[in-house]
Amino acid sequence: MHPVDFSARLAAASAGAGRAGLDALLITPGPDLRYLVGYDAVPLERLTCLVIRPGGDPTLVAPALERAAAEASPAGGLGIAIATWQETEDPYALVGGLVAGARSVGLADHMWASKVLALRAAMPGVDQVTAGRVINEMRMRKSPAEVAALQDAADAIDRVHASVPALLAVGRTEREVGRDIAELIVAEGHVRADFVIVASGPNGASPHHETSDRALQAGDAIVVDIGGTTHQGYCSDETRTYALGDPGGEYLAAYAALQAAQAAATEVVRPGVPCERVDEVARDSLGAAGLGDFFIHRTGHGIGLETHEEPYIVEGNALGLEEGMAFSIEPGFYIPGAYGARIEDIVVCGADGPIVLNRRPRDLVMVEP
Ligand code: ZN
Ligand code: ZN
Ligand code: ZN
Repeated sequence: MHPVDFSARLAAASAGAGRAGLDALLITPGPDLRYLVGYDAVPLERLTCLVIRPGGDPTLVAPALERAAAEASPAGGLGIAIATWQETEDPYALVGGLVAGARSVGLADHMWASKVLALRAAMPGVDQVTAGRVINEMRMRKSPAEVAALQDAADAIDRVHASVPALLAVGRTEREVGRDIAELIVAEGHVRADFVIVASGPNGASPHHETSDRALQAGDAIVVDIGGTTHQGYCSDETRTYALGDPGGEYLAAYAALQAAQAAATEVVRPGVPCERVDEVARDSLGAAGLGDFFIHRTGHGIGLETHEEPYIVEGNALGLEEGMAFSIEPGFYIPGAYGARIEDIVVCGADGPIVLNRRPRDLVMVEP
């Protein structure tokens, strides 16, 4: 276990809200709530909402029946006031009363539209913006404890990939293989499988193909992109590409170019390098191999308590990398009707270069058909 200083996070969020000119942050269940106070509450129709005000103490508004759960979470040990509401009370008015006089509030990025609108009705005339502008700034710079948690997640998904070759055989369907992988994701140290992509043969040309009833055939290339969430709440996400028998010389040449592009993009990671530069290196490298038109998505995304979060590794994102930022580097090529490939690692920007969390070999994994 890695201890987390939730009080420091709350103080930073409160100060950030003040700097952003917000009178309050209103945080409903989701990754922001878990990040700020360790409360992994299930999003439900009843309102649970952490109210953070610059210069004031935070209050957790919760249904009375959730008080025990809130107190049992790390939030309960922080000395945060818990204001409960009974089934017949109006929790939105309760929140409105806590932020009386506010002109502008930040709402958790994943807040349900029904709650956004109920808060608007309870606080007419108050500007609503996303709290992400404050909290994403914090969440995208990982502490050493968070990097350790991401490493645990990466180790767990590495162990799953180590078992994938034994699951691949001519005649097995993507769905059968995917079911086995989902079980392994949990068995190897996640609390749940978040996604399982087994994209064989021509299905590999669709980056987010999940699984289908297509049976594996000799000569297939198979893109396996999988991830889950660990008990600490951090996500894994790793892609390796497998070949069931000989995928052909043209494929092998393209794969070699992809491997070089993924390595080149990883090597350029260091503090101060713009996110878009990492994307450009991958894109230029694939372009030089004639594969530029077939690399149809950004190079990567941040990862932490969510699989996709800031910073995004994409053209147009001039944000400079900083020590502790964690993100995927996952170039691929997708040839419609034929095949696809992707190589994906989670990389942390270290003080003098990349720290690659996934350690499975990046070569095409050849499996006897
Ligand atoms: Zn994706
Ligand atoms: Zn992935
Ligand atoms: Zn990814």
